[in-house]
Amino acid sequence: MKIFCIGRNYVDHAKELNNPVPSEPLVFMKPPTALVVNNKPFFYPDFTQDLHHEGEIVLRVCKNGRSVQPGFAHRYYDAVAFGIDFTARDVQERLKQKGQPWEIAKGFDGSAPLSKWVPLEELRDVKNIHFQLKKNGQVVQNGQTADLIFPFDALIVHISRYFTLQKGDMIFTGTPAGVGPVQIGDVLEGFIEDQLLLHCAVK
Ligand code: ZN
Repeated sequence: MKIFCIGRNYVDHAKELNNPVPSEPLVFMKPPTALVVNNKPFFYPDFTQDLHHEGEIVLRVCKNGRSVQPGFAHRYYDAVAFGIDFTARDVQERLKQKGQPWEIAKGFDGSAPLSKWVPLEELRDVKNIHFQLKKNGQVVQNGQTADLIFPFDALIVHISRYFTLQKGDMIFTGTPAGVGPVQIGDVLEGFIEDQLLLHCAVK
């Protein structure tokens, strides 16, 4: 099972971190040991002083495929979940300055809390999914997938040019604006279309 993640896939988020808007999807990966499921708590790592939340819609890959053509891309995912792409922003900044890969800033143990899956049939509009992240009861991130620079189908097409998609893979599709630090004691909650799906206590 592979966990793909997409960076800078919403214009407002690329701008808040002073990053250029990409001309093709920015892909990175997390290992399976990054996952935190069943609303288990997240333990703040000791190697960062600036851990950020990035609330994201996650796609579930339901079929094996490579070099998927655009007209068929929608057949390769069947559910979404709410995920957090936890990022050690201070570590990531150090690595970015040196032009080095950022795996340790984004792929560490526990860096990918994930909710249960919601089948696509249960969504009002698969092309415009509304989602929110609350921190301690306050909305900090508010997104809709109609604003994705590279929508779901484009991600399937792009990723499958380089990596064979396998059933069970997942794709963190990117975060909207509003990323920010979390502290021990914070509670994060992820919503898709007003449904509370993810509860993540930071310990
Ligand atoms: Zn992200």
